[in-house]
Amino acid sequence: MNKALELKERILGRIFSEDAIYERIKDLCLMGSRFAGTESEKEAQQYMLKFLKAQGIDAFTHEFEYQGWIRGECSFDIESSKFKKEFPAISLVLAPSTHGETVEGNIIDGKGGSETELNRIKDSIPGKILMINSGDTEEGWLHRRIKYANAVDFGAKVFVFANHNPGQLFPTGSVRSNRIGEIPAIGISKETYELVKEIITKEDHVNCKVKVSNETPRLTSKHIIWEIPGEIKDEVIVIGGHYDGHDIGQGAVDNAASIAAILELARLYKKFNYVPKRTLRFIAFAVEEFGVVGSTIYANDVDLSDVVAMINLDGLVGHIPKHITCSGIEDLFVEINILKNQLLYDPKISKNIVTASDNYPFFLKGIPNVCIFGEKPDPRVGRGYGHTSADTFDKITRLDAKLSLAFAFVFIDVFSRIEKFPKRLSENEIIKILRDTKLEDQLKLLEKWPFK
Ligand SMILES: [Zn+2]
Repeated sequence: MNKALELKERILGRIFSEDAIYERIKDLCLMGSRFAGTESEKEAQQYMLKFLKAQGIDAFTHEFEYQGWIRGECSFDIESSKFKKEFPAISLVLAPSTHGETVEGNIIDGKGGSETELNRIKDSIPGKILMINSGDTEEGWLHRRIKYANAVDFGAKVFVFANHNPGQLFPTGSVRSNRIGEIPAIGISKETYELVKEIITKEDHVNCKVKVSNETPRLTSKHIIWEIPGEIKDEVIVIGGHYDGHDIGQGAVDNAASIAAILELARLYKKFNYVPKRTLRFIAFAVEEFGVVGSTIYANDVDLSDVVAMINLDGLVGHIPKHITCSGIEDLFVEINILKNQLLYDPKISKNIVTASDNYPFFLKGIPNVCIFGEKPDPRVGRGYGHTSADTFDKITRLDAKLSLAFAFVFIDVFSRIEKFPKRLSENEIIKILRDTKLEDQLKLLEKWPFK
């Protein structure tokens, strides 16, 4: 048997014969959310640096400043002639404080919150407290930040984001990227949403009161970066994933488990003296949950001239199959399909463009990129338990963790051997892809359209 294959088999055997990946996931989840600006974020940085040092890897950091946000109290009251109740609610990330004031007004339902849906009730929105649910809109799935931007544009006074999944879970997430939003924004459970909708259809005058107190300091954070030199040293593949989660939970699938996977890869590579075809630059990204802030700053700050491709892991461990998105890049889609037969098991391969994760800033630089995540309909991935307090380590099985790590190991190995990577996209080619996929308007609402 040839040496490279023998080494690959030994590493795969080791992945399945020990529980290291699962222990690593638990370590990262038990330290807390790793939410930007918290002590657990600092603890995660120290944990990664210490772990890498123990493997004999010199990691370095990339520090940056960003718009911080610290959660405070939140109250949500509903009053009518027959009904008076305070419901549990939480503020969304980067939503402003009401500075001790209570914001008061009528509450209405904006359903999925797409432009079409809101246009239908446009005259009744200005000055109102607007509920929008996290489920699909009439035009399909829309990111929370687009729904918030729509609520602001239509003149709502408060954005109430209701979970579309049951379980008394509050959804969270950022409302803007690296800046404080214009109007208060709170998350409520599906059960609260259904009850409030019922009250407003039965009664004429339903008053709603919202009070939130959040702090908004400027803060700094850092990415943790390390390299595994390849046979072709000066061609680099960036492999990234964010280590921050949301402050209301553990952020286990999103995204502690992906970080556990890249740390385990570091350990296994060193242990078995594995040399990849090209140099692998691993980056544990900070401050992704504030609107892909950390990786955007990184991609704009750092010389990326030696980077030939980028692999982003966001929700890698969650479910089989894996979904590999090729960012609308035809040549990359062809290449990934060619190497499909060498993978451990069949993934879903698509030309989808993930714009709300750490691959997107690299896409905007024209770099061929993929995002890998566990595919729906498993409730553990995406906006099932994701971005709620239920995204916890116990949802991940040991087998899933091992299968996901093994998949990542094999994928990165064969990906790094691609004969010739597609060349970088020009600005015109990037714009064409985004226009062809009808993403331009959405990206403008998200403030993720850097072109003229
Ligand atoms: Zn994520």
